[in-house]
Amino acid sequence: MFKNEKAIVVFSGGQDSTTCLFWAKQHFAEVEVVTFDYGQRHKLEIEVAADIARDLGVEQTVLDMSLLNQLSPNALTRSDIEITQEDGQLPSTFVDGRNHLFLSFAAVMAKQKGARHIITGVCETDFSGYPDCRDVFVKSLNVTLNLAMDYEFVIHTPLMWLNKAETWALSDELGAFDYVRERTLTCYNGIKGDGCGECPACKLRKAGLDEYLTKRGGVQ
Ligand code: ZN
Repeated sequence: MFKNEKAIVVFSGGQDSTTCLFWAKQHFAEVEVVTFDYGQRHKLEIEVAADIARDLGVEQTVLDMSLLNQLSPNALTRSDIEITQEDGQLPSTFVDGRNHLFLSFAAVMAKQKGARHIITGVCETDFSGYPDCRDVFVKSLNVTLNLAMDYEFVIHTPLMWLNKAETWALSDELGAFDYVRERTLTCYNGIKGDGCGECPACKLRKAGLDEYLTKRGGVQ
């Protein structure tokens, strides 16, 4: 439907945004990525994202968002605070409004580059408590951005209603299952691929992977 147009993918080098990048490459004539540097616990995240972008032949822009550290010092941006998550509560990595800010900056960049399509891997199914990752918020922001910049943005959220197993299934449909499994970084401890296996991000990723592999009946 948008085959002739250009799209910008909000890209962190993780499983979700890498799956979105493959999805975008299949749906748009031209794809670029934007990566936000906000003093991640592991600079490795930026390196992994840069490697994947180079590997897939897409232009990457890294935007400095280190001001987030000033606004919300927390475990993700300050290495001296431990990442914790109590059941039913937001993880200590939470930065209020982070996704809102990222999408808004991505939109400013997208318009400058002549792209009206923005793709983000946010998801409401494995909702971890981030209000600005919900579908209703993304739709609301889409309207706001169009009014703010007098431009017809379309924010695409291909993962919005998928659970983690279905996200693995999508990467498989896109012919990117092995690539996403091996090359992406999800782990809070900075280990690529299947990760440390212990942190909340690894556990979530592994649960989805195991569920998908069981369904597919393939070799683990
Ligand atoms: Zn981990």
